Amino acid sequence: MNNREIILSCTRVNSQYMRLPAGKVVSLEAMTALYKRIASQSHDCAQAWVQDSPCPDHEPGADAFWWAVVAWADAFGLSMGVDMAEWSRLFVYPHDQFANYLRPGNLPPPLEEVDGSPADVIITLDVAWTELVLKLTARWGFLHHFKDRAAVLEAQRLLAVLRTPGSPAYKAFLESDLTFFRHLFKPFPFSEQTREHINAWLKRAEEAL
Ligand SMILES: [Zn+2]
Repeated sequence: MNNREIILSCTRVNSQYMRLPAGKVVSLEAMTALYKRIASQSHDCAQAWVQDSPCPDHEPGADAFWWAVVAWADAFGLSMGVDMAEWSRLFVYPHDQFANYLRPGNLPPPLEEVDGSPADVIITLDVAWTELVLKLTARWGFLHHFKDRAAVLEAQRLLAVLRTPGSPAYKAFLESDLTFFRHLFKPFPFSEQTREHINAWLKRAEEAL
């Protein structure tokens, strides 16, 4: 698979394994609907990218989603402690290219590396990623953002409960993130060493469940 095909597969994983355990812990109806819409648009855009066509219409939330993933990806690699030269080339770069296809521009300031247990790294960066998506969506699409205010309120409530380690919300999100990551990382051509590092790290995160 080339980089574009890998990203297309990521957009599929995004719609199949949403990082939102719906209804389990807090009400996420509006947020889930918004996420589904963005996931579906992202898939269409990635499909067009693979075919080297112009980017189809999509909403600012999709731009915010992927640019925030780029910022997240860098911090996630650093926090896992993988070989950053390989991680940047194989994981961050294709995401950066896709974000640029959706909305040409410059990377927002990267998220900060998290020093903590794998479970804490995952949830802390989840919170930081969500905050960045909200911030960029507000900056790039005020009207859409306004239309989606129910989703924004849910996201803010969610961020508050995620800040309590060991809470049911924390565990539900960690569980759904772990399933998501296992599928997400699969198509990337990581070296054997990096793949083993990632798997061992995710296994340690699982122990917090
Ligand atoms: Zn598009």
